[in-house]
Amino acid sequence: MSKIKKVWVIAEKESALAQLCAGGRQLGEEVAAVVLGTKEETGKAITMGADTVYWLGEFKPENRMEDYVKTVLELLKQERPDLLMVQPTKRGKLIAGRLAASMGTSVLVDAAKIKIDEKVQVTHLVYGGAAFRTEQSLTETTIVTVGAGVYTALPEDTSRQGNVISVDYLEPSNKVKLLEKKTKPSATVNLGAAKRVVGVGRGIANQEDIKIAEELAEQIGAEVGCSRPIAEGVNWLPTERYIGVSGAILKPEVYLAVGISGQVQHLVGVNQAKVIIAVNKDKAAPIFKHADYGIVGDLYKVLPLLIEKFKANK
Ligand SMILES: Cc1cc2nc3c(=O)[nH]c(=O)nc-3n(C[C@H](O)[C@H](O)[C@H](O)COP(=O)(O)OP(=O)(O)OC[C@H]3O[C@@H](n4cnc5c(N)ncnc54)[C@H](O)[C@@H]3O)c2cc1C
Repeated sequence: MSKIKKVWVIAEKESALAQLCAGGRQLGEEVAAVVLGTKEETGKAITMGADTVYWLGEFKPENRMEDYVKTVLELLKQERPDLLMVQPTKRGKLIAGRLAASMGTSVLVDAAKIKIDEKVQVTHLVYGGAAFRTEQSLTETTIVTVGAGVYTALPEDTSRQGNVISVDYLEPSNKVKLLEKKTKPSATVNLGAAKRVVGVGRGIANQEDIKIAEELAEQIGAEVGCSRPIAEGVNWLPTERYIGVSGAILKPEVYLAVGISGQVQHLVGVNQAKVIIAVNKDKAAPIFKHADYGIVGDLYKVLPLLIEKFKANK
């Protein structure tokens, strides 16, 4: 694969910075990291693979990350890298979007693969994970968001040398005013760590009936998850419980899908389960094509029977 000249990276987390620097080394001749943080963090970026660090200084508590967009934009216009890879955190996405808009282009989002064929070509999932699309930006600098796992961090090399260039902060003309910050109660569930998960879908007719699935989950030591409409349609369960391409991606030992049709966007979140069991009253439901075991039946009859059986066997 041919290489481009300059790759820039922006990441909030150190692990992401390491991965993006490693990706940068594969794709480009020179890697530069834009760092907003301590002097030590600039040194880290070099040991993780950057040749140059554009240091925006330490983060000032009175600022927001987005306030640095103007400063980075001026740098981009001056240095004209071929590719800017940004970690897709909430702030990263915001920064990438604002930079791209200011440069008259779009962000290519959630790269699954980046290839250089003279120009930068970016492949990402579309249709909720059912297909891949490859795109190429027509502007000089391609701006891409790149998530975890696309590149593997290189072992840190403390002997690496690089340049640290301090960049003057440019005050943005239209700042956003922070009105309030407050802590939110911590998440009550870690579905990713659960060995067994009972997923409920729109086959459940009422919010109160979720307790049947909760009772079954309790019997088998499982967590309760759900399809997206349950969390982001009728809002019967919190969003951290929904599974799928836009929710949690799981790898449990057992996934029991209850009243879930098995659309691809949901299956992306569970197809790495060791065993999938489905309960659905429609024998043609797509979930049965992916299930190891299927029970065709009304969940309001099947679940109480399962609960009774598990209770009896205790
Ligand atoms: C861009 C995009 C991203 C998306 N991301 C996600 C995602 O991350 N996660 C996700 O889950 N979805 C996602 N979706 C939505 C997804 O396409 C489906 O609409 C959703 O998964 C369907 O949820 P469901 O299976 O609960 O409901 P339905 O498709 O309505 O299925 C309900 C099932 O319950 C069965 N049923 C009904 N009554 C009973 C009963 N009494 N007993 C037994 N079975 C019964 C029915 O036969 C049916 O199969 C996304 C969609 C888009 C477009």
